[in-house]
Amino acid sequence: MELIERSLVLVKPDGVKRGLVGNIIHRFEQAGLKIVAMKMVWVDQAHVAKHYPDSRQDLMEAIGKRTLETFEKYGLEPEKVLGTANAVDIGRMTNQWNKDFLSSGPVVAVVLEGIHAIDSVRMIVGHTLPSMAQPGTIRGDLSIDSPALATTRKRPVRNLAHASGNVAEATYETDLWFKPKEIHDYKRADEDVMFG
Ligand code: ADP
Repeated sequence: MELIERSLVLVKPDGVKRGLVGNIIHRFEQAGLKIVAMKMVWVDQAHVAKHYPDSRQDLMEAIGKRTLETFEKYGLEPEKVLGTANAVDIGRMTNQWNKDFLSSGPVVAVVLEGIHAIDSVRMIVGHTLPSMAQPGTIRGDLSIDSPALATTRKRPVRNLAHASGNVAEATYETDLWFKPKEIHDYKRADEDVMFG
């Protein structure tokens, strides 16, 4: 098993427009994750369609189920608000909003490298739904958005950052957002003290 991993993080348009780029990236740096690539880009629909592919039925269903759970919790009726109570259909709808949102403004794309980087980054980012994210995480400290509110407004939850979910996703996403020559190999001054 490879202990040193790379993870792709995006500061989404809400993070950029709220002036939170430094706040968000600082949290990874101070934990000991190394920035090995970084750029600001405003991508088009073709690019975001590759980042949020509709083809993953299981992912669409998971997203839709989360929406249905919060609708039930807050007494909202999915058919009335969305015209359907089917989890996959709701997931696909949400994915289209994701694509529109991610291409609605500039994002900051970063590749982070470090010990168990994929899990470590996800821990620092926090729960997908900011209303359920722990304080101390990016999403828990900086947002309280909920899928009940987001979905009734026909938009995705604005949760500030994206982080790769597993090794295959990290490899795919890193290749999608960066060319090999944009990723840099160097040593940080605190590496020996932290990990030696
Ligand atoms: P994550 O970004 O934490 O990996 P997912 O891949 O499941 O989460 O979802 C992709 C994005 O879709 C989320 O970051 C969020 O912006 C949005 N999203 C996910 N679930 C919902 C939902 N139930 N309602 C609204 N937006 C959602």
